[in-house]
Amino acid sequence: MKKIAIYPGTFDPITNGHIDIAKRSVRLFDKLIVAVLNNPKKTPLFTVNERVELIREVLKDEVTIEVDYFNGLLVDYANKKQGCAIIRGLRAISDFEYEMQMSLINRRLNPNIDTFFKMPSEEYTFLTSSAVKEIASLGGSVAGLVPRVVEKALKDKFKHISVIQFEV
Ligand code: ADP
Repeated sequence: MKKIAIYPGTFDPITNGHIDIAKRSVRLFDKLIVAVLNNPKKTPLFTVNERVELIREVLKDEVTIEVDYFNGLLVDYANKKQGCAIIRGLRAISDFEYEMQMSLINRRLNPNIDTFFKMPSEEYTFLTSSAVKEIASLGGSVAGLVPRVVEKALKDKFKHISVIQFEV
């Protein structure tokens, strides 16, 4: 039976830290599904479709990585996809408490699905999608933090947003 892992997240947008975790994880499983959470409580910069398309473009050479999106409970989605594992990244102690709580809740909801934590390469331990958006919105360079295609998408997004604000 194939071992399938789910790497869920907001990915707004995908960064080199996320890519590092995905590439480290895929070696351990037959298939990795990078799953974008469609969370109605959050107001992301990129739509779910834009996020999925960016991830597909960035990971197109990884033949055992699939990109998808989901609504609702992660364990239900993992079950539907026949996943046996959830992958999460741990950057610092600050991630730990929330991640531990989520993994224990998910284990309670479905004891057959285990959460695995991966640490990124140290150069990405400070990297968050929020920081990337903040830098890009202020016209700073995010080169080296995100792939080129994401850099371009951020530029386009903020160009558009500043035009709208200017017109208003
Ligand atoms: P979420 O809203 O689910 O935290 P994110 O897109 O911010 O979604 O992150 C998805 C997963 O990737 C989380 O487990 C997060 O800890 C991890 N992650 C985010 N940035 C990094 C990074 N720079 N290095 C390693 N893991 C990361």
